[in-house]
Amino acid sequence: MATFILRGKAFDGMRFHEDVVVRVDSGSGTILGFGERGSVEEPRGSKKVTVEGGTILPGLIDAHVHFYSSRGEGVNEWASVPDTLAVLRGAGDMRKLLRAGFTAVRELGTKGGVHLAQAVAEGAIEGPEVVSCARALAQTGGDDDPPGFQLEVAQQLASYTYFCDGPWECRKAVRKVARDGGKVVKFYASGAFSRGTGVKPNFTVEETRAIVDESRRLGLKVAAHAYGEEAIERAVGCGVDSVEHGLGLTPRLASEMKRKGVRYVPTLVTYANPAYKNRHNEMVKRHLSEDMLVAKEKGTEVVMGSDIVGDGARQHGRNYEEIAEEAKFLGNREALVAATSRAADCLGLENAGVLREGYRADMVVVRGDPEADIQALAPERVVRVMKCGRFV
Ligand SMILES: [Zn+2]
Repeated sequence: MATFILRGKAFDGMRFHEDVVVRVDSGSGTILGFGERGSVEEPRGSKKVTVEGGTILPGLIDAHVHFYSSRGEGVNEWASVPDTLAVLRGAGDMRKLLRAGFTAVRELGTKGGVHLAQAVAEGAIEGPEVVSCARALAQTGGDDDPPGFQLEVAQQLASYTYFCDGPWECRKAVRKVARDGGKVVKFYASGAFSRGTGVKPNFTVEETRAIVDESRRLGLKVAAHAYGEEAIERAVGCGVDSVEHGLGLTPRLASEMKRKGVRYVPTLVTYANPAYKNRHNEMVKRHLSEDMLVAKEKGTEVVMGSDIVGDGARQHGRNYEEIAEEAKFLGNREALVAATSRAADCLGLENAGVLREGYRADMVVVRGDPEADIQALAPERVVRVMKCGRFV
């Protein structure tokens, strides 16, 4: 198996280094050395990749995606995509993501998400590692129970969730997620705008506690879709690991999240998309202008998540745009922390997201310097992608 030596400017998952050497063992798929030139042994016969005018980074991570695999938008469109076609399109999205430098994603609601994860893990298809929620959890009549369908049809065809009501059904739904091979529990702590019911909390405190407690028992992290102060407060109070979207963040809640180590996944690019139909909503406008400033001021840990779903105007491939949106508030370096080392921790990936000896050799090399210009992460500027010690 080959040894690769990469030399050049690098971002290690926390900070930038002007001129370093990364030594990779493609057999074990790990980094054998990282450091200044001269400090890392460069054995004879190793393959050298010098990155002139470029930057080496850990593989990028998107902590909030879906693979709807429809070409139009809307639930009817999504519900009517045949499973086989959805899987094939999903495989295409996986390839696009990997080639754009994403080596891991967290999938929070997709038909067949665990199967995409398995296909990548087996090497049947090319793609980032997928941490899948298998199915999300939603209350009956809640955010992922689309109106206009009979309940059974909604459950089977038009949603990617287990509907559950009452603490014991919630516990059972978590158990079903674990049984399905899910590696994270995602639940709807609130509506969105999709049912026209505003953003009221979903699930009672009792139900939310049951979801979190059962997930803990099974060793799974919990991601809460939460819009509005009340829903965020309930989710954080019950001990979730991350707040997804988080529209309506307040300084008090941001401080509480910081104190408890709850991550904030703002999915800005979805709301900034000109095709997003609720973009004139006050809450959305505030999310795009103020919520991130609140998070930054209180030191809440942001994790990069785009909520790109792979339909209509929300196609995979340019997920780096979320990093660029977050960088407007956090600065380039911090936005890259959110998309590498911290994202790896959020996903529960071991020895990932950092360029360091003993860590996974998941890397992307881009043309240009993302410390100065975040657009250097655009897919057309991706020069090489390495996953598990092998160039894609
Ligand atoms: Zn989502």
